[in-house]
Amino acid sequence: MAAFDVVVLGGGTAGVHVATEVAGGGKTVALVEAGLIGGESAYLACLPSNSLLLSAGRGEPWEDAVARRAEVTGGLDDSAAAQRLNRAGVQVIRGTGRITAPDTVEVTRAQSAATTKLTGSDLVIATGSEPVAPPIEGLSDIPAWTTAQSLSSPDLPRRLIVLGGGPAGCELTQMYASFGSQVTLVEAEPRLLPGEPAFAGEILAVALRRAGADIRLGSRATKAERTADGLTLALEDGTRIDAARLLLASGRRPRLSGLGLDVLGLEVTPGMALPTTTRCEVAGTRGQRVRVWAAGDVTGTTHTHASHYQADVVAANILGRHREADYSAIPRCVFTTPSVFAVGTIPGGTEETTGAGDGNGPDADHGPGNGGKTRRMLRIARPPSAEAASAEAASAAEASPVAQGGAGPRLVTARARLGDTARGYLGQDDLGRLELYADAGTGVLAGAVAVGPDAASWMSEVTLAIRAKIPVAVLADVVHAFPTYGEALQTALRELAGTGDSPARADQQEKGTGTLSELDMETPEDDAIEQHQEVIADEAVASPRREVPFDVNEADAAEQERAVGFDDDDYR
Ligand SMILES: Cc1cc2nc3c(=O)[nH]c(=O)nc-3n(C[C@H](O)[C@H](O)[C@H](O)COP(=O)(O)OP(=O)(O)OC[C@H]3O[C@@H](n4cnc5c(N)ncnc54)[C@H](O)[C@@H]3O)c2cc1C
Repeated sequence: MAAFDVVVLGGGTAGVHVATEVAGGGKTVALVEAGLIGGESAYLACLPSNSLLLSAGRGEPWEDAVARRAEVTGGLDDSAAAQRLNRAGVQVIRGTGRITAPDTVEVTRAQSAATTKLTGSDLVIATGSEPVAPPIEGLSDIPAWTTAQSLSSPDLPRRLIVLGGGPAGCELTQMYASFGSQVTLVEAEPRLLPGEPAFAGEILAVALRRAGADIRLGSRATKAERTADGLTLALEDGTRIDAARLLLASGRRPRLSGLGLDVLGLEVTPGMALPTTTRCEVAGTRGQRVRVWAAGDVTGTTHTHASHYQADVVAANILGRHREADYSAIPRCVFTTPSVFAVGTIPGGTEETTGAGDGNGPDADHGPGNGGKTRRMLRIARPPSAEAASAEAASAAEASPVAQGGAGPRLVTARARLGDTARGYLGQDDLGRLELYADAGTGVLAGAVAVGPDAASWMSEVTLAIRAKIPVAVLADVVHAFPTYGEALQTALRELAGTGDSPARADQQEKGTGTLSELDMETPEDDAIEQHQEVIADEAVASPRREVPFDVNEADAAEQERAVGFDDDDYR
């Protein structure tokens, strides 16, 4: 039995970061890892996938792209990562861990099958997520890849079926099609990226078709059969598609089975995410001999940066610095060309959350939670009704002057086309577009979605704006460099603030969207920020340059007031 202050179960993005941080803070730490130190992102997901996409964009031949991928992923050799942890003071234990008592993890060693017992007063669960096979007859008999298998294989299938039109399905479709595979993407929902507003998936479908892929939407696969050349996949409508291989990008779920969570009094069902408080403490584990924390995909988050953020929060709390996670502005990205960037709340209710899903969503791929719908969404701070809203809700919101009521905020939408900017004209960008969603009640941005070249870069100011709750009136006064895609952002922001040019406003009225100044805002008398917003909206029309009376101290005070009384045991 070896005793530590902190035992970390799982050495991916989240586990490695927590372990390194708390060791740096003076704690004794053991990190248990069954596979590669560094986890999926570094070896089997983000890095190889983005490396191949970039190689494809540069027009490299497949063999060169595979060589570059091997370089980027260190040939799947994690010894350097293990050494870094050792140098940071973390004891790395290779094997599969299982909780056998509230403060004890038993590790079955990878090589010898011998077991080791570790105790700690803080236990961190960071075991990530795993792919879920969809219910298709014959699936186990055909040549199929998980995303991890495809991203570590040197093979370029001549004909490939990609099952699932979420972020990973779209990225891998574009990547293989660019290298010359004949790719058919099969998605059960009527559009790609079903969790995002319709326009994003529609633009992506055009882009993937232009890359040569065959996109089958609203098509449910029912049966797979092995053939001499590979497989045949039968769709519900009777269509049969032949391919050398099938790539499963259709669902992931938090990896919780076999961890011994019942010992902690937790009941988990397949597909469920670990419920956590805003401090990333596992809900329902108070009163144990040990404090139990969780970070990463296991909580229902679905991106590397979200895992890293939660790991920061866990480490701070273990080290005695109270910290709460704020999920209002966690970016969701698809690294296709054009890329898709989404953040915050969208009409219909998608946003980052930590919640349970069945992991069997037809369109799921990158991550767990929310019915397995990809890395893009986790439910936080919204009632289930908002999260459950779907494509119809998004369409209804588009048609409505003031987007949806319901449990979430009332959203006002403004749109802009990248093609209307000088950068779009120069780049011959006929596809790019963005939508901004402002909260009618507060006058701040609640969410945004953009499709365009490297959208994550020029939309990052929106992430900041949402997180910092910067009033739209202030954002609309920000100057964007010429010629950049940021000018499209400027157009949409000015529409939201009611200071846009008249043609855009006429177009806006035609489309049935609104401006914040035109709304009958439900502003509580005592909310300082919102009172400001009302004043701003009136003044904005007469004098755009005087519309920036944002008082940081006042905003802070209002925010602190909101935070008072918050119960950190709340599962948001
Ligand atoms: C194809 C694909 C592409 C992606 N691209 C992006 C992207 O571009 N950007 C982005 O932000 N996100 C992307 N993601 C999501 C990202 O990879 C994950 O969000 C991230 O890796 C999660 O990190 P984690 O630490 O939670 O889990 P992981 O990295 O999966 O780490 C968990 C670790 O726990 C170990 N483990 C599990 N059970 C045990 C046990 N019982 N004992 C010991 N060890 C155990 C596992 O071996 C694993 O190494 C992508 C995902 C996929 C599938």
